[in-house]
Amino acid sequence: MNVLAIESSCDETSAAVLTDGQIRSNIIATQLIHEQYGGVVPELASRAHQQHIVRVVDQALAAAKIAKTDLSAVAFTRGPGLLGALLVGASFAKALALGLNIPLIEVNHMQAHVLAHFIADAENPNAKGPGFPFICLTVSGGHTQLVRVDAPLAMHVIGQTQDDAVGEAFDKSAKLLGLPYPGGPLIDRYAKTGNPLAFKFPTTEMPGLDFSFSGIKTAIMYFLRDRTKHNPTFVADNLADVCASIQHTLVQMLLTKLKRAMQETGIKQVAIAGGVSANSGLRNALDQLGQEQGWDVFIPKFEYCTDNAAMIAMAGYFKYQQGDFVGQDVSPLPRMAM
Ligand code: ATP
Ligand code: MG
Ligand code: FE
Repeated sequence: MNVLAIESSCDETSAAVLTDGQIRSNIIATQLIHEQYGGVVPELASRAHQQHIVRVVDQALAAAKIAKTDLSAVAFTRGPGLLGALLVGASFAKALALGLNIPLIEVNHMQAHVLAHFIADAENPNAKGPGFPFICLTVSGGHTQLVRVDAPLAMHVIGQTQDDAVGEAFDKSAKLLGLPYPGGPLIDRYAKTGNPLAFKFPTTEMPGLDFSFSGIKTAIMYFLRDRTKHNPTFVADNLADVCASIQHTLVQMLLTKLKRAMQETGIKQVAIAGGVSANSGLRNALDQLGQEQGWDVFIPKFEYCTDNAAMIAMAGYFKYQQGDFVGQDVSPLPRMAM
């Protein structure tokens, strides 16, 4: 069986082909147009999806050496995401499924980020992923969630951010430092040579397993205002230390709640997912914490952290096995719940 998957929730147009549980191709077109605006412009995102989607799907089929007529099902991201962006992928998937007379599968983007752990590909044909249940810390541009995963399609959010996502905190901090969008990966890069304990930022602690990241941006803004008042070159002179300190603060905020979730549930298997799980500070700190605590730690391959259609195909494959299909009347859900 062959599943074609389409991802178009934000600023990546992506298509992937999965054959009998293994990823054969995963093509990602990242929209560069947004950089000049310092963030994703929704209307430009949907236009760029329209421009790229045919080519991206053709490339995914060609790389997998699969003809359209060999497809068994089409999976697509139904939400959450930008409405106009989701509409492009959903319309394309619906038309293709209708034209080929094959089943259509809706996928929740946040569930797919978690299921990226189960992706088997040419490099890792026997990849199995964590056993159940496990806790997944899903950290991305729009979400920060602690998820209890009891089965591939049985997930429960047990804690989440009450305001900004941690990816947003990375990107907004980078913007304050004058770095281009998306700044998360740049903070990671500069942090590598910096001292994580050079500067301290006040953080707010939410009750239970919830997070809050809106205050840290303001704290960094005031910190930079005070430091640059007497020293206009403060940022340029201390970029590595500032980046390392910001990253350390954000990572500790994540791990404090993750530790609490592990203690409260008694679960010993833990995973991270989403774009921020590409962060080397988080990956290293979790590895270390896992060793201290005796947890089995699962960290996704870099290419499956940020948005990609391979994870949509994986989620689609689980649903295909259960015969979980949708009709042509399905429409995108920008705020789709887990
Ligand atoms: P969501 O999945 O919540 O809908 P999204 O799809 O836009 O949001 P992703 O593509 O999963 O988000 O992740 C993008 C985010 O990951 C951005 O905020 C980006 O800065 C951040 N990110 C990517 N790589 C790194 C890194 N190495 N360090 C820190 N942040 C990173
Ligand atoms: Mg993106
Ligand atoms: Fe995402």
